[in-house]
Amino acid sequence: MIDILQKQLSAAGVKLIAVSKTYPPENILAVYAEGCRDFGENKVQELVDKYEILPKDIQWHVIGHLQTNKVKYIAPFVAMIHSVDSLRLLAEINKQGAKHHRQIPCLLQFFIAEEDTKFGLDWAEAVELLESPEFADFKHVIIAGVMGMASFTENQEQVRREFDTLKQYFDRLKKTYFANQPTFKEISMGMSGDWELAVEAGSTMVRIGSAIFGARTKT
Ligand SMILES: *Cc1c(COP(=O)(O)O)cnc(C)c1O
Repeated sequence: MIDILQKQLSAAGVKLIAVSKTYPPENILAVYAEGCRDFGENKVQELVDKYEILPKDIQWHVIGHLQTNKVKYIAPFVAMIHSVDSLRLLAEINKQGAKHHRQIPCLLQFFIAEEDTKFGLDWAEAVELLESPEFADFKHVIIAGVMGMASFTENQEQVRREFDTLKQYFDRLKKTYFANQPTFKEISMGMSGDWELAVEAGSTMVRIGSAIFGARTKT
């Protein structure tokens, strides 16, 4: 599965993030052996435990809701935080980035689904964040793009519409706030069930778990 996925995605110029949450290190090493170097986790403790014992050339992506008080544990090594949904969180990432002399790549997570269980900003909240005086002073974060999760539904038209919305947000932000910043370039969207639609809609990074590792028994 993984080699077919990697071929298809690299042909489309899309980066594969293998979502390894709940899976043990042995499973990650098997996927690592196939050439994958980007892995996604949603729990800080699990991520730190895996980081400590697995090869150091792995790029670790935080894809789940991140509590402000946990940023310090991942700041020294995290490759990208996909789930920035508040100014307060971004301020803490900036502070921890400064401590470790890093600029930490972050994505702004948008709420695009028709479900009320998913985290993320709406357009007005994103604008407020980006126009706040505090944001202008952040030197230790790089806003590298946007992230979103579509609804869990069989309705392909709806999923497509949600991905199109995220792409439009990206384009508007790029034009308005990041026109001169080539580092603002990522659209993280697409999971096991909907990545093909996401790629069609302009995804640059897909986050795929169960299609690589098998169905999860835990969340
Ligand atoms: C778990 C998770 C994924 C991967 O889900 P699969 O359906 O297993 O591919 C992607 N993104 C986020 C934010 C997740 O929490």
